[in-house]
Amino acid sequence: MIDIRGLSQIYQGPTGPVEALRGIDLHIQPGEVFGIIGRSGAGKSSLVRCINLLNRPTEGEVIVNGRDLTKLGDTDLRAARRDIGMVFQHFNLLSSRTVFDNAALPLELVGMSKEAIRARVEPLLELVGLTALRDRYPAQISGGQKQRVGIARALASNPKVLLSDEATSALDPETTRSILDLLRKVNRELGLTVVLITHQMQVIKQIADRVAVIDAGRIAEMGPVIDVFTRP
Ligand code: ADP
Ligand code: ADP
Repeated sequence: MIDIRGLSQIYQGPTGPVEALRGIDLHIQPGEVFGIIGRSGAGKSSLVRCINLLNRPTEGEVIVNGRDLTKLGDTDLRAARRDIGMVFQHFNLLSSRTVFDNAALPLELVGMSKEAIRARVEPLLELVGLTALRDRYPAQISGGQKQRVGIARALASNPKVLLSDEATSALDPETTRSILDLLRKVNRELGLTVVLITHQMQVIKQIADRVAVIDAGRIAEMGPVIDVFTRP
C-alpha cells in the first residue's frame, strides 16, 4: 500500500544542512494500522510531509497504491493525494462552516453536486457519530467532536490511506481512547489502511498492529507492537 525506499530529507538550515531523514525503508500493508513513533525532532513531520508529498524528498521513492509519488508532476500529484486522507493535531476546521459543511469541503472543492455531497457526507457523519450535531459550528462542539469532523472530512474523498498526524495529542486520555476506537472502526469497516504518527506510546499500544520507532531521522526499530515494546 505504502512503500518507502531509501528516503532522505535534507534541509538547508541557517548553520548548514540538516539531515531530517536518512535512508528510511518502510513497507505498510493494505488494511494495516501502522504506527510511527518518535520524540520531538526525530523526523516525524518530515516523514508525514514526504508521504503526502508536501515536501519533495531529497532522495528515495514514495510508492502509494502502486505509483511513485516522487515521479509525478503537480497535476497528477494533486490527484494522487486524494488517495491519502489527512487528520491533524489541531483539527484545521473552518470556524465559519458547520460540521456538515466542514466535512463536505473536499467534495465542494472538486465541484461535486449538492445531492452527491449529501449522499456521501450523511453516512460519514453517522459513522463518526455526529449526525445530531451537523448544523453546529466548531466553536459549539468539544475537541473530540472536532476531531470526529476532521476524520469525516478526511474520509470524504474516499481515500485508500488515512494519515493521522498527532491526531490525539491535543485531547485528554478518555477522548483519545474514543478517537482511537473510531479510527479502529474506520480501519475495520472501511478496510482503510491507517498510518498514525505520534509521540505517545499509549496511542501505539492501543491501536497499532506494527510500529516503527524513528530516532534522529532513522528507523531505530520496527515490528509488531508486542515485540517492539516488550524487548528488554
Ligand atoms: P518531528 O516532527 O519528529 O518533531 P521534524 O521532521 O519536524 O521532527 O524535524 C526533524 C529535524 O529536521 C529537526 O532537527 C528539525 O529541526 C529539522 N527541520 C524540520 N523542518 C526543517 C526545515 N524546514 N528547515 C530546516 N530544518 C528543519
Ligand atoms: P511539529 O513538531 O508540531 O510538527 P515543528 O515545531 O517541528 O512542529 O515545526 C513547525 C514548522 O517549522 C514545520 O513546518 C517545520 O518544517 C519547520 N521547522 C522545524 N524545525 C525547523 C528548523 N530547524 N528550521 C526551519 N524550520 C523548521
